[in-house]
Amino acid sequence: MSEKAVFSARRVANGETAAWLPDHSVVVDSGVITGVTPTAQLPSDIGATHATHDLGDVSLLPGLIDVHFHMEFTRHKGAVDALMTDSPETRIMTATDNLRRNLMAGLTTLRDLGSRNETTFPIKEALDSGGIPGPRLIAAGSPVTITAGHMWSFSTQADSVDDVVRAVRRQVRLGAGVIKIAASGGRGTPTANPRRAQYDADTLKAAVTEAHRSGVPIVAHTLAADGVRNCVEAGIDHVIHAKWYHRDPSGGLDYDQATADRMAEQGQWADPTIGRARLQLDAEKDNSATKPAPIHWAVGVDVPLEEHLDKYRRMHDAGVRFTAGLDGGDLTESTACSWAYSELLGWDNWAAIRSATQDNAEAIGLGNNVGVIRQGMVADLAAFKGDPAANIRDLSVAASVVQAGTPVKLNGESLI
Ligand SMILES: [Zn+2]
Repeated sequence: MSEKAVFSARRVANGETAAWLPDHSVVVDSGVITGVTPTAQLPSDIGATHATHDLGDVSLLPGLIDVHFHMEFTRHKGAVDALMTDSPETRIMTATDNLRRNLMAGLTTLRDLGSRNETTFPIKEALDSGGIPGPRLIAAGSPVTITAGHMWSFSTQADSVDDVVRAVRRQVRLGAGVIKIAASGGRGTPTANPRRAQYDADTLKAAVTEAHRSGVPIVAHTLAADGVRNCVEAGIDHVIHAKWYHRDPSGGLDYDQATADRMAEQGQWADPTIGRARLQLDAEKDNSATKPAPIHWAVGVDVPLEEHLDKYRRMHDAGVRFTAGLDGGDLTESTACSWAYSELLGWDNWAAIRSATQDNAEAIGLGNNVGVIRQGMVADLAAFKGDPAANIRDLSVAASVVQAGTPVKLNGESLI
């Protein structure tokens, strides 16, 4: 196809992703947006120089971003099971399938927060060289965890400060664009306690210093309030889950406002990963819910969702900025994160849309390249039927997807 292209739509998001530009067109040259103009003002002979695509009565947004992908997670069985037992060949096929499927849903950028090095870096190389189709990818490769800690089966197990620094350096050497560290235990790992911190603040700080020395951001998983406090003390760039479980199972949650305030002051991002909760609530409503995962032994009696949501509202009110990450391999329902922000936290729909586009871009360090429809940005676009600003559920699987100026899906039909 021509390197020059025009994409016209009934509604195009403006440069702030805060309002629609009616009947506008995005003009692209060599993968970059060169202008956004009213369709009626395009030169009448533009078809002579540009491939023209009328996307129709759709809402055109920047391509979606999900900051919490796991390329090896399969759709067909429990994720942790698959990671323990799938062959390397199966994991590569799963990753390839997930990447294509997610691109077709409208996701043009993903950040992988934990997959085996042997899968991650060959896949990234294939994507970057155009060998396989898929979104732009930033990847952590193997996470860093303590021995027997959260995600140990696909992580680098590192206990001391020296071990952790070495693990970070190894990921950098392999090509990691981000470091993932498990600051607390997690639900998927029976030997790791979700209510307890895995590292003290000094050890996390050593990891932060080492990652930043190499120019790589660092992201931490934590479900524990002690873990959040350590992440804030250590200056972790992005805190995933950011749940506030008390270290004692009878203690419920252990939120503290001073830590949340400091997190906001330090500009640390959080991802409450409540898209999954949104999907679970939907499934319970229509009776399609599968058996919920058993509660981790260390969590004890679980805390009602509403209590977690209350803490997230307080964090957000304090100025902590949230990203959108579904945490999985098949992210075709990634927009449930935006639904959750609108429906469960009460955000304005445009703010919920920005979480999955420009906020995510900024949080992963690509805010100058992707995440908004504006002159000079990469032409990653996703078109949706209906109007997500009026009805957030219209932000769903994209009807058309454009990747760096090249259409990969048009009106529901895959082109790759
Ligand atoms: Zn995850």
